[in-house]
Amino acid sequence: MRGAPAGPRILLRRLREIMAEPISAQARLDKTVTQIAANMVAEVCSVYVLHADGVLELYATEGLKHEAVHRASLRIGQGLVGTIAAQARTLNLPDAQSHPAFRYLPETGEEIYSAFMGVPILRAGATLGVLVVQNRARRTYDEEEVEALQTTAMVLAELIAVGELSGLSRPGTLDLKRPISLTGVGLGEGVGLGHAVLHEPRVVVTALIGEDAAHEAARLDDAIASLRLFVDDMLSRDDIAETGEHRDVLEAYRMFAYDRGWVRRMHEAVRNGLSAEAAVEKVQSDMRARLQRQIDPVLRDRLHDFEDLTNRLLRVLMNKPHGPGDEELPKDAIIVARNMGAAELLDYGRARIRGLVLEEGGPTTHATIVARAIGIPTVGRAGNVVSLVDNGDAIIVDGEMGEVHLRPNADVEAAYAEKVRFRARRQEQYRLVRDEPAVTRDSVRISLLMNAGLLVDLPHLDESGAEGIGLFRTELQFMIAAKLPKLAEQKALYTAVLDAAGNRPVTFRTLDIGGDKVLPYLRTVSEEENPAMGWRAIRLGLDRPGLLRTQLRALMRASAGRELRVMLPMVTEVDEVLQTRAMIDRELAYMRRHGHVEPASLMLGAMIEVPAMLWQLDRLLTVVDFVSVGSNDLLQFMTASDRGNMRVAGRFEPLSRPFLRALRQIVRACGPAMPVTLCGELAGDPLAAMTLIGLGYRSLSMSPAAIGPVKAMILALDAGRIACFVTDLVDGNDGADNLRPAIAAYAQREGVPH
Ligand code: PEP
Ligand code: MG
Repeated sequence: MRGAPAGPRILLRRLREIMAEPISAQARLDKTVTQIAANMVAEVCSVYVLHADGVLELYATEGLKHEAVHRASLRIGQGLVGTIAAQARTLNLPDAQSHPAFRYLPETGEEIYSAFMGVPILRAGATLGVLVVQNRARRTYDEEEVEALQTTAMVLAELIAVGELSGLSRPGTLDLKRPISLTGVGLGEGVGLGHAVLHEPRVVVTALIGEDAAHEAARLDDAIASLRLFVDDMLSRDDIAETGEHRDVLEAYRMFAYDRGWVRRMHEAVRNGLSAEAAVEKVQSDMRARLQRQIDPVLRDRLHDFEDLTNRLLRVLMNKPHGPGDEELPKDAIIVARNMGAAELLDYGRARIRGLVLEEGGPTTHATIVARAIGIPTVGRAGNVVSLVDNGDAIIVDGEMGEVHLRPNADVEAAYAEKVRFRARRQEQYRLVRDEPAVTRDSVRISLLMNAGLLVDLPHLDESGAEGIGLFRTELQFMIAAKLPKLAEQKALYTAVLDAAGNRPVTFRTLDIGGDKVLPYLRTVSEEENPAMGWRAIRLGLDRPGLLRTQLRALMRASAGRELRVMLPMVTEVDEVLQTRAMIDRELAYMRRHGHVEPASLMLGAMIEVPAMLWQLDRLLTVVDFVSVGSNDLLQFMTASDRGNMRVAGRFEPLSRPFLRALRQIVRACGPAMPVTLCGELAGDPLAAMTLIGLGYRSLSMSPAAIGPVKAMILALDAGRIACFVTDLVDGNDGADNLRPAIAAYAQREGVPH
């Protein structure tokens, strides 16, 4: 007759005594499994530890053959133990051998046991191993037993995490520090090697065991109360938009903060002997394991909200400040965050940032926009990187391939270091031709301009050798600000830009906000179903003239006595240009009346990015001073594929007949008299830029980093020959949808770098 389980509290107390004994790590582990087996009335208790190479090795056992310790092993995903590790979830089986994943390890002698319960050993979201109990008789372990084993697994996680077990087996680090590679989405060009800095450092709980359950329960209640107060307070503030958080996210926080099931589970863990903070962490791990298996992105998002909230609760309990850590930033910081605001990124200071990894961020996330602007290699949608990395871990960000390598092994690191050196050498070559004009071999002059949008972009003007700014995206100032920038702030930015440019031309694009570029402080319209085609850009500007007028005024004041070029985004009808022209004229008259110095000259241009423009170019060209092709939007609308949707964004090749024919139509319509620039991403791709020159484009605006490679291409190009080649190709009809291979082959033949 077996006695009833002695309860998790007693078990935890015993384990604590074992942890404090001055014995070897192996002895500590052996005693632990014996204790668990006795306490849970199990005939077997075993610990498997996950190695760097994905092998789960038996580290200690009570009940299985002792010779199997450090010999028996399984791969992650293999057998019951491997399944638990791979899925980070508990298995509780009355008859293990009938489970499809069961795999018999002869060296252990486990064939005689039927009942099986295994729990993952988790720490901060990472699986470190598996803890198993087994019994001969068929039985299902009850909830209290599952709870007890999970709690014990936390204690073991701590033992593994402090590195105590690392000497027990063959060399090789344990799971915590194993190299991990993640594939996300490349968002900011380049490669960065450095050390991780967690934007919101995780709180690591070390005091696991609660001495006094009533005291711990009271601490937990106090902390929950203060957390709820914080969430309520945030929601009741009028200026919640100013925090950059969206209301629905905050509402989700509130829902979690008041979730009774969550609070009950934490109290249960405290009753079982955990400290308040360990209870929070335990419930967080359980929830994470459950939600991580969700493929529904909405539910996975909720996991993030929940994690944020529990981290906050942990900070309250442990008296740690909120917000980024104030530890000194390493010289080669790679910032790792779930998500962050653009201003927060700038707070780190450009000089020390080598890369950025975001768990959530996509191409239009504000932090990404800024990172790209200041040339930080960036990867977004990088799995659950925040829980996999520790402050100070070595990390490589490959913004080109969209890869992140955590704690890379020496080979990977060497390969990347070489890549960085190679890039640096190439950059050096570009620097050598920086001050040379971009002229083809047959003496055709191409104007290379850069795209910009923030003050931090301005040093690139000199560094890249750009001839000016072909597209200044004025909305970026609005997007990173906490509230609507005032006239004086707008004027100050535009003045700084013009000062930095000196006598190089700058084309300011008026606000391209609305749609998906939401300004949290500007509550405009209710949710739109198709924001990219919604109430945005010049549409919003004309409907809300106060906003556009203020901007035009700021631009005119900043350009007092200088040349001003203003460009309108998303023009769909010629009348939109005329209305804006009338607004400008009124402003000019106002300036004159009030004795302000006017711009020396004012040019008004339109972006061609809505396909409808292609069939009214004749009329448009009579009312504008210049045009600029926004190939990003033009391609999006011509191919009906959302540029922000990763599934379709790269699906259609811009180097295709329909798109190139459209681009040729524009440049031909402009002829020699109308200045035309192309300022979408296409201009910065050397092969595409070569094609554009073949179509007749002579002015291209691109990200500053692209200017070197594009100039190198131009210096080796014969404009006459490429024009013939492109004309034949575009007029051809060979059935190829993608012309890139043919164009690349041409560049190869002609020795044009691309
Ligand atoms: C474009 O659409 O090509 C463009 C340059 O504008 P944005 O990328 O800012 O929409
Ligand atoms: Mg656009």
